[in-house]
Amino acid sequence: SIVVTGATGHLGRQVIEQLLSRGTAPSDIVAGGRRPEALTELAAMGVRTARIDYDDPATLEAAFADAEKILLISGSEVGQRVAQHLAVIDAAQKVGATVVYTSAPKATTSALVLAPEHKATEELLDASGLTHTVLRNSWYTENYDDTIRQGAATGALLTSTAGGKIASAPRRDYAEAAAVVLLSDEHDGAVLELSGDHPWDFEELAATITEISGREVIVQEVSTEEHLAALKSFGLDEGTAGFVTALDANIAEGLLADSDGTLARLLGRPTTTLKQHVSALLAD
Ligand code: NDP
Repeated sequence: SIVVTGATGHLGRQVIEQLLSRGTAPSDIVAGGRRPEALTELAAMGVRTARIDYDDPATLEAAFADAEKILLISGSEVGQRVAQHLAVIDAAQKVGATVVYTSAPKATTSALVLAPEHKATEELLDASGLTHTVLRNSWYTENYDDTIRQGAATGALLTSTAGGKIASAPRRDYAEAAAVVLLSDEHDGAVLELSGDHPWDFEELAATITEISGREVIVQEVSTEEHLAALKSFGLDEGTAGFVTALDANIAEGLLADSDGTLARLLGRPTTTLKQHVSALLAD
């Protein structure tokens, strides 16, 4: 079987849809997550479902019993992920499955605040001896959905990205790439840097929202300190505000700017553009 962890989440769900649309039999797919109630729709389509909790090794062993390939979608509990991913790798070793892992851009060398857990996981995979493929997914365009809606509503985008570029693509593109990789052995052993074809900055985002909404949108570029203070004044807690501004500082340094066309080559088509994404979002 092909096991998809994190199938209760946004990316995992879309990977399963892509596997099905590429002809994979539902009974060959195991959709896993901690919340089985979020998997009932897939179960009704004939997809096998399993409770998968990275903190509960018994659930991993049961879900992986006949696994040939496992898509390990990185967990969402920052700070706990290395131990959690290790548990998945240990369980995969028991059945010798191939592991495909969703990582971050240039995870082993990047100063990105999120990189260390991905680097550690990639090192654990290398040490495991398992056949594996690393999908170093860049940013999701959806990370900016709230920003885009607010920009269209207020006419302003607040940022401390200092003109840094973001080579994002919507989740759907990464999900399709994951399905392509899972359905072939061609990418075994590869580390794939996946990103949108056209890196954009906030000026381009503002111009795109202006073009689509008809409302003039401007960029309010502020320093990291000003951004932090503004986010706290909007009610964000210190930790969240610090995380958001640290990521903007990473973007300002250019850590999410690179695009080398690998994602488009895997898809056999250009990646979804910022304009296509904003149009669909604001039409909803
Ligand atoms: P979601 O938050 O929608 O989904 C996260 C998934 O991970 C859920 O299915 C969740 O399961 C599962 N999960 C988390 N912790 C555990 C655990 N301890 N045991 C089992 N399952 C667990 O995220 P997305 O689908 O949007 O993104 C997938 C991953 O990509 C994220 O988890 C994160 O690592 C990373 N990410 C990447 C971003 C980017 O821009 N590239 C942005 C945001 C996240 P459950 O339903 O049980 O909670």
